[in-house]
Parts: sequence; C-alpha cells; structure tokens
Amino acid sequence: MNDARANAMHFPVADNVAAMEGSATLAAAQVAMDLRERGFDVIDLSVGEPDFNTPEFVKELAWEGIRKDVTKYTPIAGLKMFREAIASYFGEQFSTDFPPTEVAACCGGKQGLFNAACTILNPNDEVLIPKPYWVTFPQIVTFCRAKNVFIDTEETDFVLTADQVSRSITDKTKLLIINSPNNPTGRVIPADEMRRIVEVCAERNVYLLTDECYLYFAYPPSTPFTSASLPAELRKYVCVGGSFSKTYAMTGWRIGFTIANPEWTAAMVKLQSHSATHPTSFVQYACAKALEDVAKTVDSVRTMTAEYERRRDWLIPALNEIDGFNCAMPEGAFYAFVDVRKLLGDEFKASADVAEFLLRDAYTVVTDGAGFGADGFIRISYATSMENLHKAVDRIKSTLSLSKRGRSV
Ligand code: PLP
Repeated sequence: MNDARANAMHFPVADNVAAMEGSATLAAAQVAMDLRERGFDVIDLSVGEPDFNTPEFVKELAWEGIRKDVTKYTPIAGLKMFREAIASYFGEQFSTDFPPTEVAACCGGKQGLFNAACTILNPNDEVLIPKPYWVTFPQIVTFCRAKNVFIDTEETDFVLTADQVSRSITDKTKLLIINSPNNPTGRVIPADEMRRIVEVCAERNVYLLTDECYLYFAYPPSTPFTSASLPAELRKYVCVGGSFSKTYAMTGWRIGFTIANPEWTAAMVKLQSHSATHPTSFVQYACAKALEDVAKTVDSVRTMTAEYERRRDWLIPALNEIDGFNCAMPEGAFYAFVDVRKLLGDEFKASADVAEFLLRDAYTVVTDGAGFGADGFIRISYATSMENLHKAVDRIKSTLSLSKRGRSV
C-alpha cells in the first residue's frame, strides 16, 4: 500500500480525544491479566477494585427490581426514590440537609466527574489539581480544553491545605478537583482543613469537584467527611462525586451520583440526557432500597472497612521492612503509596523501572507513581487477600535482596 493510501486511511481522531492519555492503572492491570493467561503465577496489586462480592441483600434487591418490572426508562436524573434515598442516607449519616433535587444519578462515579467538569469548564479555564492525583482528573480537564494546574503537596505529606490552594488561585481559576480519601496516597484531608479549602475557593469564586468515592474508607482516628455537610452558602460552590463502586463492592454495576446546586445539576442532567441517559433502572432501585435499610448497609460497609484496616495494619510495617521502601501510614482508601527513591541509581532510573523489575522478577504487579504525577513512588493496592499480601511482600523482599541492582543506599 502506498503512503498516500495509508495516510488516507489514518483515522482522524478528534483533537479533544487525541490529546488525552490512556489510563496507567488499567494498563498495569492488563499486563497482569496477559501474564496470568500465559500461565504465570502473578500477584496483582494494581487493582482499584474491592475483592469482596456485592453484599447478598443488594443482589436480592436487584432481582426484586427486575421482578417488579423496574426495567424501563427512568427520569434522566434518576428515580425519585433513588434521589430521596441518597439525600436521606446522607442526612442520617452526616447530618446533611440538601434536597433530593440536588442529587443526580449517573453511570458510576467517573461519569459524574465527567458530567461535572464538562458542564463548568470552558477552553483555557484553569483547573487546580493536587499532586499526586487520580489519573482521570487531568484527562477530563484536557478533554474540556481547559488547563491543568498542579499543586505539589509533598511539603505537607500529600495532604492538601487551604494555604496551598490560596497561593495557586489566579483570575483564570475556575475549578479545584479534590479526592479524599485519596487514590493513590491514601491520605485524608481533615474536616476542618477541607472546610477552609472550600471557604478559600468560595471567597475567590472558584468551584470545587470533590471526588468522595472512598468516603467510607477512612480508618480511625480519621473520620469520613463529605462536603455535602457544609452550609448552603459554601455547598453551592461544590459538586460532590459519589459512587457505589468501592463502598458497596459494586464496580461492575456502574452506578454513582452527584450532589450539586440546582443549576449545576440541571446542566449535568441536560448533558447526560444526550449521552448515557441514566444508570440501569433496577440498579437504581436496588441501591435506593439498600440505602433505606440503613442498618444492613452500615453493617456491610463496616465489615469491609474493618478488613481493609486489618490488611493495612499488617502491610505498611511489612513494606517498611523492605530495604529501600518507605511508606507512610495511609488513613483511608485501600492503597499504600511507597516512596522508592532510595532504590534509584544506576539501574533503576525511575520508579517505572522498579515496577517493571517487580513484575518481571517477582511476578508482582504494582502501579508506577508517574501516572499519578509522582515519579519515585509505586502504588500497592491492598484490595486483595491477606494471603496474597503475605506472598507478595515475601516475593518483593527476596527478589530485591537478591538483586543489588541500582542501589544507592
Ligand atoms: N474516583 C477515584 C479516585 C477512583 O479511584 C475511581 C475508580 O478507581 C473512581 C473515581 C471511579 O469509580 P467508578 O466510576 O467505578 O464509580
């Protein structure tokens, strides 16, 4: 085929999409899957997905929804019962008082984030994103042709402060995107600091998108905090992104929600009316009914959280015993964010080399921090069994100690 013909067949991907990068976390998971298919005994610590099954009572409620023929279109913003259940559950758990009309259902937390960003950003608006960040945030901003402005948070041990936000705001800043409890660091912004951050933004007319998909995974003494509990005059600047994926081990069900002021909500509903329309009707039904049963929901979330905490308590000290690893105790989510900069030298030039080495020599998949804007770190997910964690730590320890490659320590 001649060059002219080959070029003529080159698919003209839209600029907005061409400018985006694929997901680094999904790429790591794909490598693990490929190796496993080829028969290797791979331990995958790259997953951002609970290893629990969806609670039985939620599954039963989905069947109930189907049997009741909740199988047709619902309103774009979601079933009335879904919106009411979110408002009432939040009221019960966090003393919030937003009305159900400020809730909109969407297909997973990710779609909520997309809806929120696309309905507020114009080209060249500046968007503040604390670093390290969840991989998707800058990509959504890029898609909107807005400008990513990163806030380095290493000086405050990866916990964003109001002062850092205040110093980063310019007259072009439109939005701040925050995720707490955080993926990848596991850090949690304390409630009083979070409030100050919102106040600083509100004073300067900057909006906030707070991704709360790990809301319930905050380990004592940290406590879950939702920006939906702020007073109305602050809340009007905030869109809360919520998800059932992690909290209720429902990643495949694709259901989430946003909580935002009526105008922001209306814009998101308008956008969604021309894309996904709404999340699956009987899934909305199951989630609404599950939330109505507060005791069962609280109990199943508590059981999962306690298990993550048990794993964390074992894993972090074990990781810190590995020569060249340094890991602060995460306060939430289910990730250990390990500083491997002491391992960097002649052979390990970057954390990507460490991740590759662990994959090739220890058959253990971890995620390179560079994808989160933190070269020199690797992310280890503990959303996997204790047995796997023990095995992985043993493998990493022995493989690294056999190899003296790249040590500057
Ligand atoms: N936000 C963060 C920080 C995440 O880690 C994830 C998933 O990994 C999501 C949002 C999206 O979750 P979902 O779309 O499954 O609700």
